[in-house]
Amino acid sequence: MYQILYGMSKNKAKYPIRLTALILALGTIPLVLLSSFGTKKRYVHHKDFNVTHIKQGFANVYVAQQGDKIVMIDSGNPEKSHDLESRLLNMGINPKSIEYLILTHAHPDHAGNARYFQEKYGMQILSGIGEKEIIANQGEDGNLCPIGFMGTMVGKTIAKERYAPFETDIYIKDEFDLKTLGFDGIIVPFPGHTPGSLIVYLGDAVFVGDIIRGKTLNKKKPTRHLFVCDFDQNLANIEAISKLKGVKHWYPGHGGPLVQEDVKQFINKEKSK
Ligand SMILES: [Zn+2]
Repeated sequence: MYQILYGMSKNKAKYPIRLTALILALGTIPLVLLSSFGTKKRYVHHKDFNVTHIKQGFANVYVAQQGDKIVMIDSGNPEKSHDLESRLLNMGINPKSIEYLILTHAHPDHAGNARYFQEKYGMQILSGIGEKEIIANQGEDGNLCPIGFMGTMVGKTIAKERYAPFETDIYIKDEFDLKTLGFDGIIVPFPGHTPGSLIVYLGDAVFVGDIIRGKTLNKKKPTRHLFVCDFDQNLANIEAISKLKGVKHWYPGHGGPLVQEDVKQFINKEKSK
């Protein structure tokens, strides 16, 4: 053992240095672990922007920052505004600094706190024009197609929740260049999960709402969302997104994040069924 740990060199003068280095290295591990738990800002750095991933219940909220421009993507479950607000603050993000809230779609677990952030922080809300009816009905969607037991359960619980009414500031009808808002990226409508579902496409990342999700336990593995009415159309949407130039990282509304290779594997698997 001595030989293995300390006997690699015949130069005895090096042994104490190696031993000290080993002790220091081992001593550093708990410090690194402690400091990573204590870190408040946990974002993923992309080439021109950072993404902060906030879990609000089973739903994901994302904050993308590009220079001094910040957008929030989705807003969590109804009546969880204070929870989301404190999660943002804990991550070192002041909601006052967020100018825009982009809704991937208007289901309750995505648009849940839109009104609160619009009213309190003056965030401007962007949503697909096809979401008008769901927004007018405060999240109610009469056309849900639940898959399996979990879909049925969620359809009877979370999907039944309603949010406070809000007004959309900018309706998205076609591809929308975020440069008009000072942000380098685009919004692309992908109707399917809902009539006005859209994705936010920033550099090598896509924020895709409920077009796909991460598995419940194995969160980084892609699977179908719990509500899919048209499987072929859904897969066509996923495939079209996978072909957008430079896409590597997928940020879904539930679970994730996903990587492009896994999504491609998922597409091939679904196609072979
Ligand atoms: Zn949804």
